[in-house]
Amino acid sequence: MTSAHPGLIDRYGRRAVDLRVSLTDRCNLRCSYCMPPEGLPWLPKAEILTDGEVLRLITIAVTRLGVEEVRFTGGEPLLRPGIVDIVAGSAALSPRPRLSVTTNGIGLARLAVPLRDAGLDRVNVSLDTIDPERFAAIALRRRFQDVIDGLSGAAAAGLTPVKLNAVLLRGVNDDEAPALLRFALKHGYELRFIEQMPLDAQHGWSRDKMVTADEILASLTTEFDLTPDPAERGGAPAETWLVDGGPAKVGVIASVTRPFCGDCDRTRLTADGQVRNCLFARGETDLRGLLRGGAEDEEIAQRWRDAMWGKMPGHGIDNPRFLQPTRPMSAIGG
Ligand code: SAM
Repeated sequence: MTSAHPGLIDRYGRRAVDLRVSLTDRCNLRCSYCMPPEGLPWLPKAEILTDGEVLRLITIAVTRLGVEEVRFTGGEPLLRPGIVDIVAGSAALSPRPRLSVTTNGIGLARLAVPLRDAGLDRVNVSLDTIDPERFAAIALRRRFQDVIDGLSGAAAAGLTPVKLNAVLLRGVNDDEAPALLRFALKHGYELRFIEQMPLDAQHGWSRDKMVTADEILASLTTEFDLTPDPAERGGAPAETWLVDGGPAKVGVIASVTRPFCGDCDRTRLTADGQVRNCLFARGETDLRGLLRGGAEDEEIAQRWRDAMWGKMPGHGIDNPRFLQPTRPMSAIGG
């Protein structure tokens, strides 16, 4: 069963307008909470959508399904050779979607200007620590300075506000919330902490080890005065606070302890052309087969609508029968 609505709605009245597109499942870091040190069996090239196929699906999403925002992610999206062309093709659509990239920042120093010129509006850069040694311990690569350079490059190119995403890990960097916020304030970046989610390939997540939103806020308030942000949150995953009266803000994406599934407005496309209606979904809907089988745009659009119609009301992490998705975050697209 499905709906006659042209957009991506579900049975609970939510409408997906924010599309996350994974451009590759590969990454040049090995963050412990995401991937094993040896990496993962990467998707074979033949299974990955070509640049033309990615653009065709984005076009269908924007022109037929009401998608208003496209965020490129991965894996590490800057590893995708065609990213500048994919951004340019997306920016040429009418109506023009808002365009952003979630990246670890490596390569951004070189790509910020070409991406901006292609039409990119914003970047989110992941950085869990401002200590180069800790960075190497978490990500298993000595690339800290590349990320810092990427951040500066993005700001200089006007890809603003530059947002910083940080995951805190108990016993590793859980003492670093105030230092990360000081760093963000100093450079004019907008910091958001993400609660660690059960999405690592190694299945190493446990609730008692994760650092909660309450703990992060308690740690921040030892140094900063936080007041709830009066701005409308809408479907945004981050709950935000004004820092020392504002205008600077800090956010927490508390997917585990304060889930926001009721307001979720996201739909996801994996690098191999599968639609996922939720990060935690256990099923996927294949669009690549339709595309390569010669389907018309409307048939693909309808398959996408059907996929979203079946979205669950919540991710169910709290349910004792919760099962982690088979694909890890890096393959789904974070
Ligand atoms: N490589 C890009 C990056 O580093 O931003 C994009 C993909 S990455 C999977 C997207 C975001 O997901 C990053 O901010 C990363 O820290 C976060 N992430 C990965 N695994 C996570 C987990 N298990 N829980 C919470 N966040 C996670």
